[in-house]
Amino acid sequence: RAASLDRSTRGSTTTLSADEDNINVVVRVRPVNETERSHGEREILEFPGKGQVICPGTVTGQKHKVFSYNVVFEPAASQEDVLEYSGVKRLLEMAVEGFSCTAFCYGQTGSGKTHTLSGPPGLIESGASPYSSEHGLVVRSFVYLFQLIRDRPDCHFILKASFLEIYNEKVIDLLNPGTSRKPLQVRWSKESRSFYVENLFTVDCEELDDLFAVLEEGTRNRAVGAHAMNAHSSRSHTLLSVRVRRDVRSERDVTCSTHGKINFVDLAGSEITKRTHSTGKTLEEANNINRSLMVLGYCIAQLSDGKKRGHIPYRDSKLTKLLADSLAGNGVTLMIACIAPTRSNLNETVNTLRYAARAKKIKSKPIVKMDARDALILSLKREVEALQAENQHL
Ligand code: ADP
Ligand code: MG
Repeated sequence: RAASLDRSTRGSTTTLSADEDNINVVVRVRPVNETERSHGEREILEFPGKGQVICPGTVTGQKHKVFSYNVVFEPAASQEDVLEYSGVKRLLEMAVEGFSCTAFCYGQTGSGKTHTLSGPPGLIESGASPYSSEHGLVVRSFVYLFQLIRDRPDCHFILKASFLEIYNEKVIDLLNPGTSRKPLQVRWSKESRSFYVENLFTVDCEELDDLFAVLEEGTRNRAVGAHAMNAHSSRSHTLLSVRVRRDVRSERDVTCSTHGKINFVDLAGSEITKRTHSTGKTLEEANNINRSLMVLGYCIAQLSDGKKRGHIPYRDSKLTKLLADSLAGNGVTLMIACIAPTRSNLNETVNTLRYAARAKKIKSKPIVKMDARDALILSLKREVEALQAENQHL
C-alpha cells in the first residue's frame, strides 16, 4: 500500500523539459545617484547586450571582467521592464500550476533590492495606487497573478499570504509582530515534507486588495522595527509568501488540488558577510545575519556543483529552511542581483556578480506538489483509462 502510494505520487509529478533551467539569474543596475554625481562619480560598467556586464579591473593594470546572465537591466530600465523580462511571470504561472517558486534580490545595501521589489522608500506605506509606475515587482506580480486566476474560471483558487522578517536568526511575523516582537519557531512538517513557521499569521486573500493590504501592513511594521534599531533594514531579510491552492474538477468529477507558492525575498545587504571586526553582541548579530546569507551561499554553491553535489545544508539557517523547497527543485528560482554602477562600489559589485554567476550554474528538475491522496486518485484514474483503452483494442 505504502509502496503503491509512493509509486503513484512519483508517477503523477510533472517534470519540466530538461532544457528549462530552474534558476534564472538577472542583474539590475541602478542609476548613479545625486550624492555620487556630486562627488564626480559616473557609470563605469558597460553593457554590450546578450546579458553581459563588463567591469573594469578592481586594481590598476588588471584586465576588465566579463560576466554573463540571462538578462541585464540597465539603469534606464523601468519597473515594468523588470516584470516583463525578468522571468517572474513564468514563476507566477508555475506557482499557479503547483510549483514552489522564489524571487530574491541580492546585493549590497543601497544597490536597489527594495526598490526593485517594492519601489522607492515610503511608496507602499503611502497607500499609492497599485497601478503607479513606481511600484516594484511584488505589486506588479500580484496584479499578474490575479490575471492568471481570472483566466482559469474552471478552477477554484485559495490564496494565503504571510510576511515575515528574519533578523539576527529570529523570525518576526510582520503581520502580527506583537508589542514584544516575540520570535516564532521554524518547524518541520512531516505531512508536507517542508519547513514552516509555527503560529505565523496567514491571511486569506480573495481579492487583489487583500494582497495589497498584506504588503502594506507588513511594510509598515517593518519600518517600525527598523526605526527602533540602527541599520536594521540592511541587516534583516524579509520573506513575503503567497500560497496558491488550485482545485481542478475534471470531467469525471474528480477534484484534484495543487499547492503552489511564490516567495519574494528582500535579502540583507551582501556587504555584511565581511563585517567580521565586530565584538560582543554585535558579533553574535553579525554571525547570525551572516548565517542565513552564508548558508544560502553554500546551498547555491552545492546545488551548482553538477559533479560532486553533496549534502546541501538547508537546515543550517532559518532562511534556507524556508526556501528549501523552491531551491531543492520543487520549483523555480529567480535571482535578481542588484548592483550600483560607480567605482566606489566596484568591489561589492564584483562580489555580487561572482555570486550571481555561480547561482546560474544550478540545475535541477522542478516538480509539482500534490496531495498524496490526489496523486493516488489521479494515477488510478490514468490506470482505469489505460485499461479502458486496452479493452477497446481487444
Ligand atoms: P537596498 O534595498 O538594496 O538597500 P534601495 O532599494 O533602498 O537599496 O535603494 C537605495 C536608493 O536608491 C533608494 O532611494 C532607491 O529608491 C534608489 N534606487 C534604487 N534603484 C533604483 C532604480 N532602478 N531607479 C531609481 N532609483 C533607484
Ligand atoms: Mg532595502
